[in-house]
Formats: sequence, C-alpha cells, structure tokens
Amino acid sequence: MVICRTIGSLNEYLSARPQGPRLGFIPTMGALHDGHASLIREARAGGRFTVVSVFVNPTQFNDPSDFQKYPKTVDQDVYLLEKTGADVLFLPDVTEIYPQGTAPAKHYDLGYLETVLEGAYRPGHFQGVCQVVERLLRIVAPDDLYMGQKDYQQCMVVQRLIDLEHLPVTLVVSPIRREPDGLAMSSRNMRLDAAHRAGAIAIYEALEDIRRGFTRGPLAALTDAARAALEAKGFRVDYVSIADAASLRLLEEWDGKTPAVALIAAFYNDVRLIDNEVLAQAHQLHKVS
Ligand code: AMP
Repeated sequence: MVICRTIGSLNEYLSARPQGPRLGFIPTMGALHDGHASLIREARAGGRFTVVSVFVNPTQFNDPSDFQKYPKTVDQDVYLLEKTGADVLFLPDVTEIYPQGTAPAKHYDLGYLETVLEGAYRPGHFQGVCQVVERLLRIVAPDDLYMGQKDYQQCMVVQRLIDLEHLPVTLVVSPIRREPDGLAMSSRNMRLDAAHRAGAIAIYEALEDIRRGFTRGPLAALTDAARAALEAKGFRVDYVSIADAASLRLLEEWDGKTPAVALIAAFYNDVRLIDNEVLAQAHQLHKVS
C-alpha cells in the first residue's frame, strides 16, 4: 500500500496507475475497525482499485470536545489497511484539505434532511460532511464511493450532494458491521470503558425490540418504550424514531406498506452513539456494486 500525504503525490500516483479497474474510494476519520474494513473488502470484491482516506474533518464536529477526543490510531490504521488490501492511503493534514481555511465556501441545500434527526441534533454537521466529501471527491475523482448504512442519514445526505453538484460518482452503501453481541462497530466505542462497552448493547437491543414489535398502526408506544428502557440504563437519548426509509419523514403510524427504518442516537457516559435498523420492506439504500 502506498501512503500519500499530499494532493500532488496522490494525483501523481493515481495518474500512473494501471488503467482499467474502476477507482473505489472510502473516506474515513480513522480509528479503523472491521466496519471500515468491510467497505474496503466490498470495493476489492468488485475489482476496484481502492483508495482510503483518513482525515478527522474539523468542520463536521458541532461539539469541539468531541473533535478533541476523537480517537487517533494511525499506526494501527495502516496495519489494518495493509491487511485488508487497500491500494492507497490518503492521509492529508488540515491545510491540504482546507488551504483557504475551514470556513465554508458555500451552503448546501439539503432541505428537509438537515432539519431532522442528526440534522436537528447536530447543527451544521451535514454542511461539514458535504464540505469535506465534495472536496475529497474532487481530489480523488473516484468512480464509486463506499459508505456504511451505520450512518444512514449521512448516506442520504451524500447522495443529495452528488445530485446537487452533479458529481460523476456512484454511491455504494454497505450493511452495518456489528460486534458479536450486536453493538454496531464505531470508532467512538473505543472511548467506552469496559462496563459501558458491555452496557452499550442496549441500543441494539432497543432496535431489536422495535423490530419485533413493529406492526401496522400507531408507533409511539414502541418508540416510547425503547426510549424508557435506554433512559433506565443511564443513556441520555437524543432520539428514538421510526422514519420512512426513503425520505426520513418521521412516521407516527405504519400503514403496513411504507418502507421503514428505526434510528437511535444516545449518549452513554458522554459518548454519542448512533445505530439503525431497517424494519420493513427494505428500502434500496444498498446499491449493488
Ligand atoms: P467514519 O470513520 O466513522 O467517518 O466512517 C467512515 C465510513 O465507514 C462511513 O461511511 C461509515 O458509515 C462507515 N462505517 C462506520 N462504522 C461502520 C460499521 N459498523 N459498519 C459499516 N460501515 C461503517
């Protein structure tokens, strides 16, 4: 694997690569785990020449202490990437990505998506995501962009970015990788001590309870019970919601037809965790690569 720290060296390397295989790109913020590796494996299985970026993007953190505490494990990341078979690691610093500074150059019209769930609880977050993803896509110029369903709403936002900016790239969404006990893999899990790591599976259990109880009719009792179960275990819940899987319009009742997704965000010992589960008539967030 080649490591490029500058746009110049990345461009030089990519322009000299063998022509033929499509370019697959996986943007990450590092502290890599098997969820990230699954995206790389999917790209490689599809025959992609695979570029991974590790860049902790300051503009998508609405909470400065979350940015300060974000785990950084570059040596282990390089090891995981080598083992998984990434072709290139792009490891820029902030001035490489934002030579004019981090102030946004434009506003992305994300519409309703920016007003709900993560958009509502993390003001400015998706503007920062779009800022960095557009920048990275213009630098790397991939054919295919691989992202995880773990960040369900982010995938919808990035598809909107691609449409808004007419970017010539296909978004491929991969399923959520979970620990053996069900906890969704996340870089932030590293910040949980042993007791909280064990207790964190309550989020997955709440999603499973919702999935089992999901039926035609009003949904408030289901989401209220899941929220109460989490709060009883010491979580500070931002939201437990069921939404239309295609639009993220919040559902108060289910008509037995609309594709639906349950989404949870909650703090556990000051670590903010998110997870989701598609409930019914899976919406095609997953594209076949
Ligand atoms: P991050 O480093 O958290 O910004 O994540 C980089 C990419 O990996 C995003 O597209 C995430 O959705 C994806 N990802 C993170 N965790 C998982 C997981 N448990 N399973 C699948 N993909 C994931």
